[in-house]
Amino acid sequence: MENKSIWEDTVHIGSYPKLDHSIKTDVLVIGGGITGILCASELKKRGHEVVLVEQKRIGGGITKNTTAFISALHETLYQDVVHKYGYKYASDYLRLNLMAIEEYKKLRQKYDFDFKECPSTMFTAMNDDVILKEKKILDSLNYHTELIESLPLEDVSIKLGIRFNNQGRLNPLKLINALAEDLSIYEETRITKLQKNVAYTEKYRIEFNNVIVATHYPFINRFGLYFLKLRQRISYIVSLNHKEIDGTYCSIDSGLYFRGYDDNLIIGGYDRDTKEPCNKMFLKRISSLYGFNQINYSWTNQDVMTLDGIPYIGKYSLMRKNWFVATGFNMWGFTWAMVSSKVLSDMIEGKEEIKLISPNRSIWHKQLFINIGTTIVNMLKIKKPRCTHLKVALKYNKIDKTWECPAHGSRYDDNFNVINDPAVKK
Ligand SMILES: Cc1cc2nc3c(=O)[nH]c(=O)nc-3n(C[C@H](O)[C@H](O)[C@H](O)COP(=O)(O)OP(=O)(O)OC[C@H]3O[C@@H](n4cnc5c(N)ncnc54)[C@H](O)[C@@H]3O)c2cc1C
Repeated sequence: MENKSIWEDTVHIGSYPKLDHSIKTDVLVIGGGITGILCASELKKRGHEVVLVEQKRIGGGITKNTTAFISALHETLYQDVVHKYGYKYASDYLRLNLMAIEEYKKLRQKYDFDFKECPSTMFTAMNDDVILKEKKILDSLNYHTELIESLPLEDVSIKLGIRFNNQGRLNPLKLINALAEDLSIYEETRITKLQKNVAYTEKYRIEFNNVIVATHYPFINRFGLYFLKLRQRISYIVSLNHKEIDGTYCSIDSGLYFRGYDDNLIIGGYDRDTKEPCNKMFLKRISSLYGFNQINYSWTNQDVMTLDGIPYIGKYSLMRKNWFVATGFNMWGFTWAMVSSKVLSDMIEGKEEIKLISPNRSIWHKQLFINIGTTIVNMLKIKKPRCTHLKVALKYNKIDKTWECPAHGSRYDDNFNVINDPAVKK
């Protein structure tokens, strides 16, 4: 089965010209995924002159392969945030994500992107203490949640779940398409170099006052140490013929997640870091539960994970006051992309960074040392081929038939065409 998502196959995205002369703009947004599109759209709404450039086609990056749950309930992140940073930061985390959901509800009144308001559930088949702890923390943040003991899917076991009501789900490419129509966009326009106030494509210059790097994996290595602060995680997804189910669901132990979309059921899971071996059991398990013939799409996707599970939204580096970044969404990019659009627009208008999500917060986490270790070990290997990003030795994945960078997550097909960033060329 072809590696293609249900969104990519069913939504026709409009096309935009290639940049063919040098230009000037107030704000340049680099990257035409959900983050770049929402940022450009918000800035335009506030009256800024904004240009968005995309190296391939808009919506063609990670966004085309997402599952698009719109939820403020992210595994059991509230207890992690309280443990690492205290209740004040957990309260900020909740406030920002709930704000993002309300913004999607406002957008729904203007655009059709199959937004459906629905509950969002995290559940366990084993460890109900974790769910009860999450509930207790949310109670103390004065946020109402419900405990549930059954799921709409008979084949998935549950002991206990926690539910947020009034969350949502949507069609990601319909949203991108709708918002893009009002924007000034150049496709097939890759930024190869960034200086203080100028971005360069192969042939042209774009002068700007402010720039937002919304490229999923930040592509400038010289500032911000993103190649040490980020790793990538891959997930496997299928869509199958199934009666419509309401809501979005994630298991905190097996890692399986699912949602409905019309007469389709989208199921994902079997996540792994790019340094870990591929597990070929996902398709087998789904086929054995539902029958191979029921599967209509099958695809993979990967997202960037931060050191502490909280994204980097703010100044790209303390050395560059007019460069902004939004990355490290830890598989929850839809609410965070919306937060990015508001926070970065505010910052461009002079507001302070939000500490919880500042890219320049402390990096002293256990994961930093794991990332450094993985990078060094794989850089020192004398094996070929090497990744074009930072020359790390690539590992072959026989099951997916891909070459993968264990340190930064770039992936290539058998002919060394780039499937996933940060690598951009063969
Ligand atoms: C399996 C999976 C399921 C997920 N499900 C959910 C979910 O249910 N809910 C949720 O909230 N989040 C989810 N996420 C996360 C979410 O999909 C991503 O965080 C989000 O789509 C990232 O969007 P983006 O715009 O930052 O990146 P992208 O969509 O990758 O966009 C970045 C764009 O930048 C372009 N670009 C890169 N470099 C350059 C350059 N130098 N010049 C010009 N353009 C450039 C790329 O071509 C690309 O189009 C999921 C992630 C995965 C992996």
